[in-house]
Amino acid sequence: MPEIKLKRVLVVDDEEAMRTIMYHYLSDNGYEVATVSTGEECLEKVPAYKPDVILLDIMMPGIHGFDVLKQLKADPATSSIGVVMCSAKDYKPEKDLAFQQGAYGYLTKPFTLAQLLTIVKECLYRPRSPQTPPPSLVPTSGKRFTVTLDRSKPYIRFWGTRGSVPVSGTSFLRHGGNTPCLEVNDGHSTIIIDAGTGIRELGVRLMSEPPRPIHLFIGHTHWDHIQGFPFFVPAFRPETSLTVYGVSGFGKDLRSIFSGQLDADYFPVQLPDLPGTIEFRQLSESPTTVGSLKMYWEYVHHPGAAVGFKFSLNGKTIVYMTDNEFLKGYRGAPDAALLDAEILSRYSNLLQFINDADVLISESQYTNEEYEKKIGWGHTMLSNGCLLCKLCNVKRWIVTHHDPMHTDDFLQEKLLLTRQILNSIEYSIPVSHAFDGLTEYF
Ligand SMILES: [Zn+2]
Ligand SMILES: [Zn+2]
Repeated sequence: MPEIKLKRVLVVDDEEAMRTIMYHYLSDNGYEVATVSTGEECLEKVPAYKPDVILLDIMMPGIHGFDVLKQLKADPATSSIGVVMCSAKDYKPEKDLAFQQGAYGYLTKPFTLAQLLTIVKECLYRPRSPQTPPPSLVPTSGKRFTVTLDRSKPYIRFWGTRGSVPVSGTSFLRHGGNTPCLEVNDGHSTIIIDAGTGIRELGVRLMSEPPRPIHLFIGHTHWDHIQGFPFFVPAFRPETSLTVYGVSGFGKDLRSIFSGQLDADYFPVQLPDLPGTIEFRQLSESPTTVGSLKMYWEYVHHPGAAVGFKFSLNGKTIVYMTDNEFLKGYRGAPDAALLDAEILSRYSNLLQFINDADVLISESQYTNEEYEKKIGWGHTMLSNGCLLCKLCNVKRWIVTHHDPMHTDDFLQEKLLLTRQILNSIEYSIPVSHAFDGLTEYF
């Protein structure tokens, strides 16, 4: 059997207890260990023993740890050995000096055995020949490069793109986990659609800007579209003027719904106690004018009173319609010829509203398989969503309101499937998935 060569560690410490602990722990973990108690002994032992790593105490009688380090690094025969300084001195000057003199690491006493093992391992597998220190990533001179968002140009920014309930974790990093919130910037006003959890972060950003009137449009008042509102910090500053627009649900007006959400049973601050000026407005027949922007709305097919919105930025028509069940119950091929006039007539207002949109932001929350069990939940089946784009002559589709069960990988597959379906119905428009933070200029 070939002989297995263990990695060698030399422990240099004047404290016997420390040497014993380190000796046993490193030996038990597969290292060959030798110990010495002074700097002189260390310098004597190193040439013959040829350790891979030296754990070097600083405050020792006789030659000081830093002098030992200096001598080891000055000698070409020993300069490449990895040295980790071990000391109870937890001060920056000591650490800086250790690294300047070529130590690989600095372990502050008392350390855990796990920390000891980690640093020995890291030192063993460190990148070699770091004779010259790697260039610092932080520029020490010159002007720092910064970039800021240009708010003078019209844009939309997605702050939340998840339907139903927020999600978090490594499976959702690419798309994000916040529930719906869209910022619309026409260059003048602060316009927001939906107050899902994404509005919390938008609110934090607005606090760093001079206050200006905020116009918040709510598509409908299901939890995922209002649950971020209590955490919208601009409502907590007295100079804020906030107008909330929406349609009523089942009898309750918009103010009652928001006030109920802030009931003392659910939240520590109640609506009348919010310092900002908050006004609630029922959406009227005519479009709502905010600065240069006109906001149109239309009822969508979703349980309760729910609407989608339409506005123009720089001459481009954008429709935002998160929750909508197009062709409820239809599970056939996405071919308009297969649909009878009666079915389509139920959606005529909607089709007219979306017609010729430059950008449609909408959902197809369920794959065709998933939809089987979700008929009547108020969301569109994927192939029906593709057909909607074609029927309305939409130029570009951004899919949002992703299902909380759909991980990043699943959504990637779903997007490929979407393109495949669009191809099959000969309507290959650009289609993409919205994600938290996506910003599009117009
Ligand atoms: Zn929703
Ligand atoms: Zn809903």
